[in-house]
Amino acid sequence: MRSPSLSPVLDPQALAAELSGKLLIGGAMVPARSGRTFEVIDPATGEVAGHAALGEAADVAAAVEAAAAAQRRWRDVPARERGRLVADCARALSAHVEELGRLVALETGKALRTESRLEASILADVFTFFGGLAPELKGETVPFDPKMLTLTLREPVGVVGAIIPWNVPMMLMALKIAPALVAGNAVVVKSAEEAPFAALRACQIMNQVLPAGVLNILSGMGPDCGAPLVAHPKVAKITFTGSVETGRIIARTAADKLIPVTLELGGKSPMIVMGDADLDRAVDGAMIGMRFTRQGQSCTAASRIFVHDSVHDAFAEKLKAKVDTLRMGDPLDEATDIGAIVSPEQFEKVRNYIRIGAETPGARALACSAMPSDPRLAKGLFVQPVLFLGLDNDSRVAREEIFGPVTCIIRFHDYEEVIAAANDSEYGLAATIWTRDLKTALDAAHRLEAGIVQVNQNLVVQPNLSYGGVKSSGMGKEASLESMLEHFTHKKTVVLNMA
Ligand code: ADP
Ligand code: MG
Repeated sequence: MRSPSLSPVLDPQALAAELSGKLLIGGAMVPARSGRTFEVIDPATGEVAGHAALGEAADVAAAVEAAAAAQRRWRDVPARERGRLVADCARALSAHVEELGRLVALETGKALRTESRLEASILADVFTFFGGLAPELKGETVPFDPKMLTLTLREPVGVVGAIIPWNVPMMLMALKIAPALVAGNAVVVKSAEEAPFAALRACQIMNQVLPAGVLNILSGMGPDCGAPLVAHPKVAKITFTGSVETGRIIARTAADKLIPVTLELGGKSPMIVMGDADLDRAVDGAMIGMRFTRQGQSCTAASRIFVHDSVHDAFAEKLKAKVDTLRMGDPLDEATDIGAIVSPEQFEKVRNYIRIGAETPGARALACSAMPSDPRLAKGLFVQPVLFLGLDNDSRVAREEIFGPVTCIIRFHDYEEVIAAANDSEYGLAATIWTRDLKTALDAAHRLEAGIVQVNQNLVVQPNLSYGGVKSSGMGKEASLESMLEHFTHKKTVVLNMA
């Protein structure tokens, strides 16, 4: 192992400047072939945070060629050794937690204390977990004919294209690259326009440990950099997290090429609070589930909270009081709980949904917390969290994914009615139910249409728990051993005739 030599850079502006204009291809930090860049904006101030390299088709081609060449060697590195190198990535990343947290706070507007540092600190877990799974890349022997030895081998698919979003860029990237690398694939990542720097830095750190070309990362626009990556003939697999709309475009191209895709798309996750629930725990669950500290920018956000009539008013009051205690402000300030919305497009989208909700007859919008008063943040993309009361499950705010700090508290009377309403959604990513009754909990666990159902808790993605949705929330799972085997290897059958 080469010894890590990069030192942490704690000033995120300085680090963004250092990373500006760079792609990581074949182990080297290089400019885009065109020399062009695009602006990355600090959403808390509206100021330019840096200039990311504008990767396009020529850069995609270079990265895929580098990956393909590296993969031919990487696949023959013994699995245990690949796993050890991936675990070494975890150690290298651990030395950069503070730096990566500050950088992701700068580019995404996520508060350092509540979100960004946390993302940076749990990043290493994913690499440690998958690094340890290398010995599990086992095949089987198959009883076929006594004179023949028949067995299966788990082989890598080749070059994997990983397209990632901006909300938890490093963590969602890790869920893709860690299992892909352990399984013997090489990876080309395409970062999100809004958040290219932290992902690039994390890959640069890992490249101190990994052989050159095994892990490459490009920044650029979706249609001009992401699309050519999907279409490249040497890319054998795409793993994507993002919007339903883009997921469909990617799946179409993948269908033409006949390559497998994993899609982690949107959600409109129901949270059901039964009349017998521990109300304070449910309120805490809604705080975490709705990711108010991440401006609600989560695919699993508890954006439809169904509350039984008997506790509806008390729940709404308690939740409002809790969200009111959160402080909005400068993402890099340790006192801040809630930062800024990532981009002007998202900001407008969120405000538009708040308008639509507020104009719905019978609706009441409870705005929580308070706008920041610091004049430096006057141009920042801050939105007060909103709890809607009086909307029903048919309203646009309850049906469409907002990806902002907006949730609906929907009153229900009857268990059958709430299960039907919870399932009456295009999406099926996550669901929770809050009850003390075991029979209700088990029944709901069976009947809720979601990739993960939790009772009386609302954990976020955990290594070892398969994660991924049904319906328009996507296809395929991440974060587990099975996800590595199913999505990053193919099973080859070998028959040896010993007669
Ligand atoms: P949003 O724009 O709502 O944040 P997207 O799904 O468009 O969500 O973006 C997620 C990722 O997909 C980003 O890295 C983006 O650049 C990429 N992307 C967008 N359009 C395409 C496309 N046509 N082909 C491949 N990747 C794309
Ligand atoms: Mg887009």
